[in-house]
Amino acid sequence: MSNYDVLIIGGGPGGYNAAIRAGQLGLKVACIEGRETLGGTCLNVGCMPSKALLHASELYEAATSGELNNLGIEVTPRLNLAQMMKQKDESVTALTKGIEFLFRKNKVEWIKGWGRLNGPGKVTVTLADGSVRELQAKDIVIATGSEPTPLPGVTIDNKRILDSTGALALPTVPKHLVVIGAGVIGLELGSVWRRLGSEVTVVEYLDRICPGLDDDTAKALQRTLSKQGMSFKLATKVSAAKATAKGVSLDLQPAAGGETEQLQADYVLVAIGRRPYTAGLGLETVGLATDKRGMLENQQHRSSVPGIWIIGDVTSGPMLAHKAEDEAIACIERIAGHAAEVNYEAIPGVIYTKPEVATVGKTEEQLKAEGRAYKVGKFPFTANSRAKINHEAEGFVKVLADERTDQILGVHIIGPSAGELIGEYCVALEFSASAEDIALICHPHPTRSEALRQAAMNVHGWAMQA
Ligand code: FAD
Ligand code: NAD
Repeated sequence: MSNYDVLIIGGGPGGYNAAIRAGQLGLKVACIEGRETLGGTCLNVGCMPSKALLHASELYEAATSGELNNLGIEVTPRLNLAQMMKQKDESVTALTKGIEFLFRKNKVEWIKGWGRLNGPGKVTVTLADGSVRELQAKDIVIATGSEPTPLPGVTIDNKRILDSTGALALPTVPKHLVVIGAGVIGLELGSVWRRLGSEVTVVEYLDRICPGLDDDTAKALQRTLSKQGMSFKLATKVSAAKATAKGVSLDLQPAAGGETEQLQADYVLVAIGRRPYTAGLGLETVGLATDKRGMLENQQHRSSVPGIWIIGDVTSGPMLAHKAEDEAIACIERIAGHAAEVNYEAIPGVIYTKPEVATVGKTEEQLKAEGRAYKVGKFPFTANSRAKINHEAEGFVKVLADERTDQILGVHIIGPSAGELIGEYCVALEFSASAEDIALICHPHPTRSEALRQAAMNVHGWAMQA
């Protein structure tokens, strides 16, 4: 029986960051990961490969759409999909190896196998060769992540009917890709394949895209994606899908019920959300159970069982890599006896479409529901000189601030590099800044960040450049 201060089950952004921080704090730590490589969903089949394909396909479309020609760069583009996939896979390998390096640097032991709780303080690991190791620790962190939510009647085979992992590794460009679910995965991966030449139809159960996103911003995103050629069938449900060797036949119905219509596709991507992953974890051996949605509950990362902690996608909150990382740090600090807190009010979200969408804090709809009096400051990128000169002037910045105190409550950006720009407002929210604070801070010219300042000025109606 090997003894540790902390055992972490799962090597994704929750688990690997927890392991590294524990190592830094001098705790004897091991991270149990069953995959061949570290990094979890994010590095292997999530954030990183999707961003690799988004980047490459964006450049391809710049070449095929005439955008480069317009800049005076004449090219005759030809898609080499195999090379696009290869460079993605190579980058992913480099990143997962990077985590192995960080483990060695911080004295984290990687135990390659599937972990199972085996009573309080104990974990049994089944290694790749089938042998078993028994481990013991004062504290155990569950960071087992999530998996795609299945859709009844639509069986994922990752040949014709795909989950996100399948859609990140297609060998050919689909003629017609049907995406079920107009959420983050559907819009990002739908964009990749549309840019590479697919006709893309997105079928969404609700009457809007991206539920939870600020309404204005979601409408602007749908407009721009439609203009790019993506089609949307909102308020529509898929009741069945039949795959053949050549394609898929889908039965669609209005969400409220009605006539069935058929839709043919050569591939279908099911992206209707993800659910916590706890299969085979032995929760019952310590008296833990999931809720109805399969979620493990936590109170400041503690489970109801002393010595067992829970972080990342497997528990409540947005399923985002940086949220898992924040929880990892706070959880380990608490295990080490330090004070730590995650501010769930200031976790940003980004959709890496073109233009990008980035958001932090409350939406206008949330503020209305809370009955909070607020002011809105908006600024369009058409009035931002850098965005104009780069021919990427679609979108806006929208700042929501408390009517009485001027404290910034929420920020929603659709526009160029929105994902990078939102960082400034994450800091602002953490420091309880007012819109006036941002309006009076010098921003470099010419940058897109000036739009952030102008939107803050406009909370008080004095944007100077629009
Ligand atoms: P995971 O990353 O899922 O890691 C859990 C790990 O635990 C897995 O490697 C699993 O093999 C392992 N495991 C499970 N059970 C056991 C066991 N019993 N024993 C041993 N190991 C076990 N988020 C963002 O913030 N930005 C993005 O751009 C983004 N893009 C995404 C794109 C896609 C296509 C997908 C699918 C997700 C994306 N996400 C993104 C979400 C992000 O990947 C997750 O929020 C993040 O990976 C959660 O981290 P985690 O550590 O909680 O879980
Ligand atoms: P999501 O929750 O973002 O979107 C799912 C969509 O599917 C919603 O619009 C929902 O209304 C719709 N839907 C649900 N059931 C349906 C049905 N039966 N028929 C049609 N539509 C249906 O989920 P996702 O896109 O699968 O992504 C999963 C998770 O991964 C998200 O929580 C997200 O945070 C994370 N992720 C993040 C990023 C990023 O940060 N850029 C990228 C990809 C994934």
